[in-house]
Amino acid sequence: MARYTGPVCRLCRREGQKLYLKGDKCYTDKCPVSKRNYAPGQHGQSRKKVTEYGLQLREKQKVRRFYGIQESQMRMYFNRADRMAGITGENLLKLLELRLDNVVYRLGFASSRAEARQLVRHGHFTVNGNKVDIPSSILKVGDVIQVKERSKNSPKFKEFVENHRGNTVRWLEVSPEEYRGRIVAEPARDDIDIPIEEHLIVELYSK
Ligand code: SF4
Repeated sequence: MARYTGPVCRLCRREGQKLYLKGDKCYTDKCPVSKRNYAPGQHGQSRKKVTEYGLQLREKQKVRRFYGIQESQMRMYFNRADRMAGITGENLLKLLELRLDNVVYRLGFASSRAEARQLVRHGHFTVNGNKVDIPSSILKVGDVIQVKERSKNSPKFKEFVENHRGNTVRWLEVSPEEYRGRIVAEPARDDIDIPIEEHLIVELYSK
């Protein structure tokens, strides 16, 4: 399935909640979810009975949109999470949190996951000293993420570093002045900041 390239605010409105896809705008009263909290389109305000399958599907779509991943990738992460020890739903979210693009966003080097993905693709980061330009790379505890020497002079990174608010999540340690971050622990379930009922996704994929 092709990547969605339409207006991203529609995705939040479709899910009925903020998915924080647009960076700073999401935290202002310009956010369309604050003004029109109903699904887009002609029938957006009509009430429909939601089936069990519909609930499971919406939950899966919400997570896909939140992390900006495609269906085939989502299925692959689910299969991997299912093979891991522990609770499958939590494993799935943990894997998604450990994607390089998400880590770059969480470290505060991008204002949204979409921007982080683009910065990674353009080769602005190293992981443990090696250039990595694959946004879906799964990182592990102890990995060090650094802005490349040449990229540090870019006005974008300078701006991010100047406006940095320090550590954003407990499992990451960030040194903005050194343009560097490190994964110090595995992400915990309560570090994920949108309401997700991951058991519905597990039920959907287990059919
Ligand atoms: Fe748009 Fe961000 Fe609001 Fe979502 S949360 S509707 S992306 S401004």
